Amino acid sequence: MRSLPTTAQLLRGAGLSGRLQREIALATARLTGLGRPAPVLATVMVGSDPSAQAYRSSILRTLRRVPIEHAPIDLPLSIDDDGLVNALERLREDESVTGVLVLMPLPDHLSPQVVYEHLSPLKDVDGITPVNAGRLHMGLPSLRPSTPQGGIELLDHYGVEIAGRRVVVIGRSNVVGRPLASLFTQRHATVTVCHRQTTDLVGICREADILAVAAGSPRLVGAAMVRPGAVVLDFGVNAVETGIVGDVAFDEVAEVAGAITPVPGGTGPVTALVLARNTVAAGFAAQGGSLDAVQNLYDMVAELAPTDVVH
Ligand code: ADP
Repeated sequence: MRSLPTTAQLLRGAGLSGRLQREIALATARLTGLGRPAPVLATVMVGSDPSAQAYRSSILRTLRRVPIEHAPIDLPLSIDDDGLVNALERLREDESVTGVLVLMPLPDHLSPQVVYEHLSPLKDVDGITPVNAGRLHMGLPSLRPSTPQGGIELLDHYGVEIAGRRVVVIGRSNVVGRPLASLFTQRHATVTVCHRQTTDLVGICREADILAVAAGSPRLVGAAMVRPGAVVLDFGVNAVETGIVGDVAFDEVAEVAGAITPVPGGTGPVTALVLARNTVAAGFAAQGGSLDAVQNLYDMVAELAPTDVVH
């Protein structure tokens, strides 16, 4: 029998954006105070895929609110793997560029592996290179993928306890599910990762104190999959006829969950700001000549009392 309907608390990204903007401004001031140039984020787009364009537009809207410059790198659809390697190697050497994001999806004829191998780990603001992924999984300072990192910071902002909780992650992509599982493990949660071949997805999800969904499948998670009172993080961004929807059937799940991120307006706005902050972190990496220097930014952020920064 279902328990009485509850109205879930909304975990809105906007609640966190003032804090992140202030962190970015302070970190940038500290970086330039060390004699480094102001951070510049290069976004690389091959051709003109609509979802890559939409993501670039949302990054541009975010960058207007912080002291970070944008350098658009547009490569023709006809470029081959060697051309992409050349572009990435030029960006590696270009001291005026602090961070590099390669917008996905790439056209089918290009291999994403070229990006993993030739993007400079020190400029890898979405943490997709093997160096950053490996360091993340080992708990070493790294540039962390912005979507999962933003999800964790959203939970922290709203005071959701993580240590000791049972977390279920649906999805095992390299940009969301897998790094998210790693971040939750580092925060002392007990984590289960589900994917397309998981049997009894419903039963496993119902065990979750925190259910994080990054599957790219509209309405994958319904009310029957959510334990009453659970916290639901929806990372889905699915274009449907009515607009953008997440992976969670928001209307019914919001009656069962204790807290839930809306789509749009939940995890999304945090992602672009964490990406921007990672660009400043990459500036520290360049200054220190090592990913270890990224820790300077996290230490600085931890020093800020929440009352200083929440608007
Ligand atoms: P994203 O970038 O949002 O993480 P991907 O398409 O790269 O999306 O990955 C989707 C992930 O979601 C895969 O790990 C896949 O196994 C998982 N997934 C997709 N559909 C389902 C489903 N119906 N049940 C469980 N897992 C799913």
